[in-house]
Amino acid sequence: MTGKVVSHWQRPVGQANAVGYELLKASETEYLAKSLATAFELPAVLKVKGVNGFGGGPFYNPEDNSITLPYQFATAVIGVISETNPQGSETEWGEAVGAVNSFIFAHEFAHALIHNFNLPVLGREEDAADGIATVLLLKAEDGATYAAEAAEFWDGFSGRQNPPQLVEYADNHSFDRQRAYNILCWVGGSDEAVLQALAENEIVPEERLASCPAEWQLLRESAEQVLKPHLKHGANLAPAA
Ligand SMILES: [Zn+2]
Repeated sequence: MTGKVVSHWQRPVGQANAVGYELLKASETEYLAKSLATAFELPAVLKVKGVNGFGGGPFYNPEDNSITLPYQFATAVIGVISETNPQGSETEWGEAVGAVNSFIFAHEFAHALIHNFNLPVLGREEDAADGIATVLLLKAEDGATYAAEAAEFWDGFSGRQNPPQLVEYADNHSFDRQRAYNILCWVGGSDEAVLQALAENEIVPEERLASCPAEWQLLRESAEQVLKPHLKHGANLAPAA
C-alpha cells in the first residue's frame, strides 16, 4: 500500500481548538495532502494527525511518518493575519489562512519527502523544507499568491522574535522574517513581474532581489534533480504558467 494518506482528526475540545479545526478543514488540508501524496511514489503510508492544543506547532515525525497539525496553531494563524491586515474582510482573512495552512502543510510534506527518499540536504533541513514547499506550491495555479501570503504571515509572526532571544538564535529554523524574505525571493525569482513589484514597492531590499532569479533557478533545479526519480508517471515539478 504505497502513496496513501491516512488522516485522523481529534474531536476539538473547547473554542480555541474548534476554531483551528474548522480552519484546517476549510483550508482543504486533506485534499492537498492527497494530491501531493498522489504526485509522489511514497514508500510508506503518510499519516496526518489533527490534534488539540498548540504544542511546538506543526511537525513531521519520521518515526511513524506522520504530520501533526495542532488546532491552536491554525487559530494563531488567523490571529496574526487579522492583526497584520485589520482592514481585511473575513473572506480575505479566510483565503490568507488557507494559503498559510497550505504552505505549512507543504513544508511538513517536504520533511516527509526528505526522510522517505533519503534526499541529500546540504544546509539546514528547515530552510530546505521551505524551499521544497515553495517549489511544490508554485506548481499550483494560485501558488505564487499562496507563497506570498505565507511570507506575509511569517513577517507578521516575527513580532514574537523581537528582539530574538538566545533560543531563537540557536533554533534549527531561520528567523521568521528570514523565512519570509527567502520565500519572497524565490517567488520573485520565478517571475519577472513579481520581481519588479517587490522592487517597486520596496518589499525586499534590492541587494537581495539581484540574486533571486539565480537563487530560484538553483533551488528549482536541485529540487527537480532529487525529486524527479520519485514522481509518479506524468507528474512534474514545473511551475504553473
Ligand atoms: Zn520544519
